[in-house]
Amino acid sequence: MAIQINRAHAQHHGNDNAMTQIIVHHTTSSLSLLQYRNFFRNSKRWARDGYHYLIRKNGAIYQFTDERSRSWGAGVENATAIHIALNGNFEHQRPTAKQKKALKALIRDIATRRGIPIERVRGHGHIPGQATACPGRNMPRSVWANALAVQAPTPVAGGTHTVRAGESLSVIAQRFGVTVANLQAWNNIQNANLIRVGQVLRVGNQRTHTVVSGDTLWNLSQRFGVSVNKLKAANGLTNSNINPGQMLVIPG
Ligand SMILES: [Zn+2]
Repeated sequence: MAIQINRAHAQHHGNDNAMTQIIVHHTTSSLSLLQYRNFFRNSKRWARDGYHYLIRKNGAIYQFTDERSRSWGAGVENATAIHIALNGNFEHQRPTAKQKKALKALIRDIATRRGIPIERVRGHGHIPGQATACPGRNMPRSVWANALAVQAPTPVAGGTHTVRAGESLSVIAQRFGVTVANLQAWNNIQNANLIRVGQVLRVGNQRTHTVVSGDTLWNLSQRFGVSVNKLKAANGLTNSNINPGQMLVIPG
């Protein structure tokens, strides 16, 4: 699911950090969007806009800082943290349903792109050494705990996933809503820690069909009860040509 992010104010500050965690905050105040930009510099006396993302009560997501740039928010963690702040004081108020939904979608988006496991998505005050009530008692970890688990499997050609830098089997399993043991079985992986970047993993116990002379996508679509378009998408086909001996994935 694509999410909408207003990036009008996103700034890149030149550095290029490897962000490996996400930290959730509340702002403790209710300010207009323009007031926010001044708030970071004037009220908090930060050298630049604080946080990478802000989620307003209506669920709108604003990006203030490029994800590669260090932002302000949690001391020594800043070098590796992407900060998400939600508008409100959740010691006293509750986040709106739209805010919670947007937060989960944003976490899912960032964590999936960067291979950040859900354990590395924490509230500000959950980090050892950070003595703060942020993000407030009404914004416990349970709000976003299933942000990755609820993701529908990403449609990928052939039901495969190519391992990216920073991804572990558990991260990939979460993304697709399967278990690490499933992935190991489907891919004949003995040691779950031994996967490499670029490795192509099968995701799911796929039905396959080896094309024989006389097969057409239309015939196969009728036989297997899936549309021609789904067959083409599952196999990365840009036209309807198939050849004897070709292995096709039959989507479920
Ligand atoms: Zn905070």
